[in-house]
Amino acid sequence: MNRRELMLAGPIFAAQSRLGLAQSGSSAKPDGPAETPGTPPTILLNDYLPHSIYQIPVTEVPKAKFRVFDGHNHGHGPLSVTEMLKIMDKVGVEKSVIFTGATTVDRFNEIAHGYADHPDRFDLWCMFDLRGIDETGFGSNAIKSLEECHRAGAKGVGELHDKGRGIFSGQNAVARGSVHTSRPEHGRSQSNLNGGPTFTQDPSPPPPPDAPIGPHPDDPRLDQLWDKAGQLGMPISFHTSDPIWSYLPMDNTNDGLMNGWTWRIVLEPGTYDHDQLVNSLENAVKKHPKTQFIACHLFNLDYNLTRLGEMLDRYPNLYADIAARFAETATIPRFVHRFLSKYSDRIVYGTDVTYNEPFFATTFRILETEDEHFYMRGKVETANFNFNYHWALNGFGLPDEVLRKIYYDNMAAIMARAEQNRES
Ligand SMILES: [Zn+2]
Repeated sequence: MNRRELMLAGPIFAAQSRLGLAQSGSSAKPDGPAETPGTPPTILLNDYLPHSIYQIPVTEVPKAKFRVFDGHNHGHGPLSVTEMLKIMDKVGVEKSVIFTGATTVDRFNEIAHGYADHPDRFDLWCMFDLRGIDETGFGSNAIKSLEECHRAGAKGVGELHDKGRGIFSGQNAVARGSVHTSRPEHGRSQSNLNGGPTFTQDPSPPPPPDAPIGPHPDDPRLDQLWDKAGQLGMPISFHTSDPIWSYLPMDNTNDGLMNGWTWRIVLEPGTYDHDQLVNSLENAVKKHPKTQFIACHLFNLDYNLTRLGEMLDRYPNLYADIAARFAETATIPRFVHRFLSKYSDRIVYGTDVTYNEPFFATTFRILETEDEHFYMRGKVETANFNFNYHWALNGFGLPDEVLRKIYYDNMAAIMARAEQNRES
């Protein structure tokens, strides 16, 4: 079942509205069911797209207050590299990590060629080559591929994913079936309420029903690869699990229901649930202290940043990026302000989407301003910031010293620290 079919097969959630309309007993809604006089109208949640009516300050932030090092991007996509650079210059992005998705040096070189004229603007990362993971003696080829990519200029490894069925990457995903869930960074074009964001990669194919489960991050077969990455001075970007609403019951208690439904996770026998996935990555981080790990998307603990904070306290080699989790955190701005201020040395700015100015402006608005209760549906042509969440966004109003670190310094520090730990 592809994404479109999933959407079409989606549930119809109805909500009872308490609008003034109800008081009048009007049945004016043109395409809805006829109203019984005196009862409120029925509105499908799919149709519910509120607009903020508050007459409060709106701050436009087209350019970041400080220079930016984007720690999470998948490439220029439909843009040319020149067009991408033009946007970067305009919005204040000095440097970007590009996840090439390459598992072999040949593929890496092919992609790197396009960025070769701008080595100071792009850090290209590679993937692990996990072919033969189930075979005895797995490892030497994977290590060789990693070393070759590193010699060719790969600065880190990622974005690796485990959404329950273990890690697959690049050609492994195609050959063996990828995880059939769902956040935008997997390149599926999201059937959003108002047209979703444009993402860089082609959709991953759904896995065949008998696709084998890949290794989870704490699988001993991967130990040699985590260590090797550390020895080569290559940090790891790892996406584990997904936002919690995708795992919760799809009923009227699910706080992020419509988005949770869009990206819902169907757990099958042998797959890991949210908690197991978080634990598995934590085990790898703990076991490999000389390797620097960036847990993508706030470790997918946006709903429980306290747990992420406790791990950041325990493991100095752990960082997290905030890429594609602005909508999930902009609903609790004061808590997030405190969290980001406390862990200001450990959080990295990231985008995860094809570059476009409105997207950047919205992330800057959330990080820098105290604007409240705004929606970014439809207003942002190529980045529907609210995704399918019904809640409004609010700014964190972070102080300058925190912004400087999150925007740039932390990513630079991770690279420097990985380099320091490198074994020549
Ligand atoms: Zn990503």
